[in-house]
Amino acid sequence: MVQFAGGCMCGKVRYSGEADPIFQGVCHCTSCQKLTGSSFSVVVAVPTPALKIEGETKTFDSKGDSGNGIHFVFCPNCGSPVTDAADIMPNVTMIRAGTLDDTSWLKPAMEIYCDSKQHWVSLAGMAQSFPKMPMPG
Ligand SMILES: [Zn+2]
Ligand SMILES: [Zn+2]
Repeated sequence: MVQFAGGCMCGKVRYSGEADPIFQGVCHCTSCQKLTGSSFSVVVAVPTPALKIEGETKTFDSKGDSGNGIHFVFCPNCGSPVTDAADIMPNVTMIRAGTLDDTSWLKPAMEIYCDSKQHWVSLAGMAQSFPKMPMPG
């Protein structure tokens, strides 16, 4: 079990919880690049019931390339993306790893959406790389 806590840049949104992360990964999709203003995002997936979020949040509803809903949760005051959730993964919430207070336990080992990876990015320690989202079946 990992005890985690974190929040947005201004501190109005805070979250905490305790869980075994379902996965830790790097996402190179264009939405993550736009959302973060960076070259990729790092997410930690946890069971939604294990996560407690405090403070007012706003949600931007979008669709993944499968056409299913993806919901991006951010702080309406400072704009930091905090979590997101996809309809195809019920009861799973992805924490944006840059919002964690303590990242010493963080060890992403898979990367997804490598098809849209920025050409200069090369990450060490990736056990698995997928061109898009790895889909069961
Ligand atoms: Zn904030
Ligand atoms: Zn992404």
